[in-house]
Amino acid sequence: GNVDIQCDMLVLGAGPGGYSAAFRAADLGMNTVLVERYESLGGVCLNVGCIPSKALLHTAQVLEEAQHMGEHGIAFKAPKVDLDKLRAHKSAVVSKLTGGLAGMAKGRKVQVVHGVGQFVGANHLEVTAADGSKKVIAFAKAIIAAGSQPVHLPFIPEDPRIVDSTGALELPQIPKRMLIIGGGIIGLEMATVYSALGARLDVVEMLDGLMQGADRDLVKVWQKRNAPRFDNIMLKTKTVGVEAKKNGILVTFEGEQAPKEPQLYDLVLVSVGRTPNGKKIAVDKAGVQVTDRGFIPVDKQMRTNVPHIFAIGDIVGQPMLAHKAVHEAHVAAEAALGEKAFFDARVIPSVAYTHPEVAWVGVTEEQAKDQGIKYGKAVFPWAASGRAIANGADDGFTKLIFDEATHRVIGGGIVGMNAGDLIGEVCLAVEMGADATDIGKTIHPHPTLCESVGMAAEVFEGVCTDLP
Ligand code: FAD
Repeated sequence: GNVDIQCDMLVLGAGPGGYSAAFRAADLGMNTVLVERYESLGGVCLNVGCIPSKALLHTAQVLEEAQHMGEHGIAFKAPKVDLDKLRAHKSAVVSKLTGGLAGMAKGRKVQVVHGVGQFVGANHLEVTAADGSKKVIAFAKAIIAAGSQPVHLPFIPEDPRIVDSTGALELPQIPKRMLIIGGGIIGLEMATVYSALGARLDVVEMLDGLMQGADRDLVKVWQKRNAPRFDNIMLKTKTVGVEAKKNGILVTFEGEQAPKEPQLYDLVLVSVGRTPNGKKIAVDKAGVQVTDRGFIPVDKQMRTNVPHIFAIGDIVGQPMLAHKAVHEAHVAAEAALGEKAFFDARVIPSVAYTHPEVAWVGVTEEQAKDQGIKYGKAVFPWAASGRAIANGADDGFTKLIFDEATHRVIGGGIVGMNAGDLIGEVCLAVEMGADATDIGKTIHPHPTLCESVGMAAEVFEGVCTDLP
């Protein structure tokens, strides 16, 4: 058939995985085409994920801190919320970044083609633009970075008062009563935002705890601080019925902590996970394998079963995180050029940007126990940190997990203000194979929260012994 565009490298999807792969490929000298269905580059992360959620979480944090200033002798009046302005602020943050990407693509001569891409062969992708016009792109190599989207529960009706994370970020209203279905990171971040804006919250989770994957000791601190936001935290409980009524959304629960009566809500957020887009891009036409769930299997070079086609990001599996996608992107672009690049991360950090933040990396204490790893641990309570006390954050703590034999750090968790920033040091320590002495003898600036990482190592070494 007709070929409209010919390239060395085709990248499908312009999220953090896709734009990073395209930019790296172009920097390495490949003639690169980046295909994206939406006008705005940046994918889920920049448009409806990481970035807008953090813009709103920052607003929420300022609001909440202002409320506690009474204890410092500073009184503010009750806040007046102008939702239109808040939405505009969030959009401005997003556009600044997505606009930047467009400029970076141009600077590298990455050709951006807007439209929905579908494979039509092992070296051809057809792109259908919004106006229905079609283009065929022939490529020598390809990187699939088509991402994921929210899971929709089949029994939940369509109604403007029922939203997924994308809908919640649009801030349709400030509900009086809000239900969050699914107590993972995304649900709890949005809960934090809506609570700060005045909503009362319920959360329902099928498993036996919120924020699965995180160390339970960390979650306890989060839960204690956040208890006032919630009327009802329902664990080991399922949502079994959702009905759109005139006066609200009527939800029926089943399980250990289910209320007997159905409950009425003004807004329901469904945040029960994300599903990969592997089955929506006709990869079978290219001979690329895809699992029943829609993930594309890859090797350590991010190569699919078809040697000239790579896949990265949410579409290749968990954890579905932007920083993982970016690193996989660089590996794929380099491997496509024949470099000996491999995805070989020891650890990938996770962060809940809630208040307080909860961050963890590597082996958690529960995992160490389950896997029979001989470990040692050290906890530095922030009640012993001058900076944490000054910041009103002394309920936080820093925990490090060490290999018992080598004293190398193999994991860590932090709960408290800026935990997401602080965990970076633990990531580096694990990757570098640092042991407790390396961390403890590193001079950290005083007074900071990052000192707590050094102090935890000293606790492990028995250097720092008189803790509260
Ligand atoms: P995506 O970002 O999903 O991008 C895929 C792109 O491909 C999209 O732009 C899509 O339009 C395009 N596409 C798909 N199919 C086609 C097609 N057929 N044709 C053309 N284009 C197509 N991660 C973090 O690390 N930190 C966070 O704080 C964080 N917060 C989040 C908050 C929320 C509310 C959500 C929903 C997610 C969050 N994530 C966060 C996860 C993060 O957004 C994803 O891991 C990341 O975006 C994955 O990048 P990706 O490149 O694999 O795919």
